[in-house]
This record gives sequence, C-alpha cells and structure tokens, in this order.
Amino acid sequence: MSVEHGVVRTTGADHRYAVAGMGATGVGVFVALVRSLVAGGRAAGAEIHIFETKERLGAGVAYSTPHDCHLLNMRAATMSVHADDPDHFVRWLAGREDVSASDAGEYVPRRLFAEYLQEFFGDALAEARQRGIKVVTHKSVVSDCREDERGVHLIAGLDHFVFGRVFLCLGDLPSTEYLEFTKLPTYVHSMWQGAGLEAIGPDATVGILGTSLTAVDALLQLRTAGHRGAITCFSRRRSLPKVQGPRVRHTLRHVTEANLRLLTGDFTRQLEFTEVAELFRRELEDGLGIAIDWTRVLARPKEMFTHTLAKDVELAEKGQTLWYSILDATSEIVPLVWRSMSPEARASFMTEHLSIWSMFRHCMPLDNARRLLDMATDNAFTVASDLTSVSYDEDARAFRIEAGGAAHHVEWLVNATGTGFALDCSDSSLIQNLLMRGDITPHPLGGIDVDFDTLRVVRRDGSLSARAHYIGPLTRGVHFYTNSFETNLANAHSAVAAALTRLDSPAAA
Ligand SMILES: Cc1cc2nc3c(=O)[nH]c(=O)nc-3n(C[C@H](O)[C@H](O)[C@H](O)COP(=O)(O)OP(=O)(O)OC[C@H]3O[C@@H](n4cnc5c(N)ncnc54)[C@H](O)[C@@H]3O)c2cc1C
Repeated sequence: MSVEHGVVRTTGADHRYAVAGMGATGVGVFVALVRSLVAGGRAAGAEIHIFETKERLGAGVAYSTPHDCHLLNMRAATMSVHADDPDHFVRWLAGREDVSASDAGEYVPRRLFAEYLQEFFGDALAEARQRGIKVVTHKSVVSDCREDERGVHLIAGLDHFVFGRVFLCLGDLPSTEYLEFTKLPTYVHSMWQGAGLEAIGPDATVGILGTSLTAVDALLQLRTAGHRGAITCFSRRRSLPKVQGPRVRHTLRHVTEANLRLLTGDFTRQLEFTEVAELFRRELEDGLGIAIDWTRVLARPKEMFTHTLAKDVELAEKGQTLWYSILDATSEIVPLVWRSMSPEARASFMTEHLSIWSMFRHCMPLDNARRLLDMATDNAFTVASDLTSVSYDEDARAFRIEAGGAAHHVEWLVNATGTGFALDCSDSSLIQNLLMRGDITPHPLGGIDVDFDTLRVVRRDGSLSARAHYIGPLTRGVHFYTNSFETNLANAHSAVAAALTRLDSPAAA
C-alpha cells in the first residue's frame, strides 16, 4: 500500500500484518486484529506475523515474575482483557483451584495474569487459524523497520519481510539512571530482566534506589527468600506508596468529558495546570465531603516512615481510603485530561507533581503493605530520603550513598527507580535505526511521539507514518497513563481500528 496525493493505494502486502513484541500489549493488538479481520470479512488469506524472542508468548516482562509476593497492583476486577466484560478475569480466577474465592476479586500474583494472557492469546490463535488467518511466529528480534511504496520492510535476524501494517509493542525501556554501574557484579539494574535479586547473599547489605512499587517488590522478594542483611531504600523526595483500601464505586462529577469540553471550548483551547488541579480538587473534596488540607498532603513527610506506614495500613483496614476510589475512577478519562493540557502544564506536572501523584495513584495492595509493616517492625529495612549521590568505592567493594546528610555503604545496589523514557539511551537497534532516520520522534516528555487516536508514529518532519503504529508504555508523553494495562489495551484497539479503517479511506496527513 502507498500514500499518494492523500489517497491510500493498496499493494500486495496489505493483507500482511506484523506485531513486534508479544507482551500484554502485543496480545491486546493480536486479539483485536483477529477479531476485526473476522468481523470485517477479511480473515481468509490474511497473515499475521508475530516477532518475540521470549519463550512464553504473551506473558510480557511485568507478569513473568514467578514470585507469589509480586502482586498485581490493580484489583482483578480492573484487569479484564475485554473492556466490555470487566469481570472476565475475575471469573477466570474463580475457575482455578489455586485461587480462593475471596482472592479472586482482589490482588493476585502477577504470574496468574501472565497465564490468563497466554490462554487468551491461545484462544485467539486457534480462532485465527480456524478462520483462515495464517499466523506465523518468529523467535527473533526486529532490528529495523522502514517504509516505502511497497509497504513496511521489517528486518528480523537475517530475514526481510514486507508488511502492509506494523504494530510495534516493544514495552518499557530499562532505567536510564545509574548506567555507570551496569558492569559491576553487585549491581542489579533491572529486577525484571537478567539475574535479578537471586544472586544476593542472605547476609549482604543492600541498598534499593527508589521507594515505589518496584522497591516494594524488591523488599518482599528479599524477605520471602529469607534475607537477613540490612536493607535501606533511598528516595530523593517521597516515601513509600500509600495503601489501597476497599474499592467503592465513584461516579465522577467534575473530572468529566463534559467539563473538559466546557473549559476548553470543545477542545479549541488548552488547559493550564491550575485549571486541571482545580477539577481534581473539586472531585476529591466533593467525593470525600471535606475540605482537604493540601499544604499538609503535599508537604514532605516529617514522621518516621514506619509510623506513616502503620497509619496508612490502619486507614485501609478501616476502609478510610475513598480518595483512592476517586482517583481510580479517573483512569479512563485521564488520557483525555492529559491531551487537553498545554505542553507547559504537562511538563510542569512531570517535574513538580509526578512523584506525589504516583505515591497516591500507584499505591500498594493492603496485603503487601501489611507484610512491609511486619518487615519494618522487625527492623528488616529502613528508608532514607534526600538522596543526593551514589558512587562505587573500588577499595571497599561497596556502594557509597549520600542521603539525608549521611553516608551509607552497601554491598549490593538495586535500581528500583522505574523504567526509562530516553530513546537515545535505548540499546534496541530497532529504536536506534528508527530514530537515526527520523522515522520516529522522541516526545518532549520522553518516549515516542504518536498520534493520540491512531497511535501512528510521528516522523521527524512532523508527518504521521501511514503504516507503523507504536503501542505501549513509551507513549506516556501522549497518553500519560500508559503504565496500566487498561490504557495500553484501549490503545491497542484504537490502533487496530485505525489501521483497518484506513485500508479503505483517504490517508490522513
Ligand atoms: C513490574 C511491573 C509491574 C506492573 N504491574 C502492573 C499491574 O499490576 N497492573 C497494570 O495495569 N499494569 C502494570 N504494569 C504496567 C505494565 O507495563 C503494562 O501493563 C504492560 O504490562 C506493558 O506490556 P507491554 O506488552 O507493552 O510490554 P512488555 O511486557 O515489556 O512486552 C514487550 C515485549 O516486546 C519484546 N520486544 C522488545 N523489543 C523487541 C524487538 N525489537 N523485536 C521483537 N520483540 C521485542 C520483549 O521481549 C517483550 O516481551 C506493571 C509494570 C511493571 C514494570
């Protein structure tokens, strides 16, 4: 297929689709593609090629962990693969002998979600084959992807393919912080890739950089493995995530599409940060029925982290966490809120407010918080804030960490600062090749720039690719809430719908 004078022309590759990366997002794209081809009467003769090096297709990085202490941070009721059937995952769990009835609606180990995704993928694969769609899986890394009038040329290993459409679902980038330590054997750059924490001896002293959900996963994994050495979590600004209590259904009154339309004049004007903050303030204060002391909420914590954690656990146990249900209710609308904000408002949110948003929005399941509180009470770990520097002392064979005006020394260092968004630091040759030619563009807020609705990648010259879509955590600058399965699944559907619709329609810019 080619695009000439604004009209999409078909080529011999139009019935061939590629999905690069078969994590949770790749599964979402694959399933949407199969269903849409079947529904549109285009199944017979279509081909879908899947590219993934991992043995387990569909499990992805976040859900491949075998450890039961690594829980989904969202309730099962929010993790359905069918947007129109939110209880699908809950019913799937209820059918398993190893999940108790009370756990089925709650926070289950992530490994169960990987199994669920794989089963869902397997069903779609069977349906595809039954309907005459040829599905080919390639256990290889895609190293380049280039468009011309014949289609999208994809290089994987020594093979060269031409496709009508390509869906890139490459997942996260590892953290781009502390890369200088990656050659040291006592440094864990990513818990989810490579050897992880298994090599850490039970009596070693451990420093964990960060206090987010990944740090919580690290603490619980070390505890489960019987770790005895001292552990310290280091943070720059914030402390441990808050704790999720019972979920209460909340209907949004202020952070709504109608209000966004009103404020932006049907999206003809962009919102400043203060306007968005005001919508959220009203939503929270109306929902809670109280005026919030924002100075106190936004202030740096003064109390010991154990005290705060104990209090947060108590509030969650008493069900006094309605604020979480209110924030949770905004999941679906948040990408639209983000789209309505001015570039300055988004940039200011990222630098000034992202850490406090994450502390409340990406908070801990109560079970994990209770385990963490036990650990804290046993003095199994501590938290040091105001992290200023990290270095490695060759003579002492230890990391030296300056935090809170004191120097700490640890034998092992674990990077739990989250994923990276700097494309130029990525070790993916695919991303580097695309960047070098200007076939993708870094978003000013990190990650990849794409069209909000169609997920087509934005080229360096500002034009949109006619055939390449990028879906997944790296579109954070455009959709914001891409560290959730929910958003990536919705985007997978949008990309597939756009790709199949455009086969018959005039090309966009
Ligand atoms: C530790 C962790 C826990 C999380 N927990 C939750 C949660 O509880 N709930 C929630 O909603 N969200 C959670 N998330 C967010 C999560 O990132 C997304 O929900 C989702 O899993 C992202 O999936 P993905 O398929 O985009 O990426 P990935 O799972 O990373 O999959 C990308 C795949 O692409 C493959 N790949 C990469 N490059 C190439 C290439 N060049 N060629 C071929 N294949 C390639 C990789 O091998 C990989 O398998 C979590 C994230 C993390 C990191």
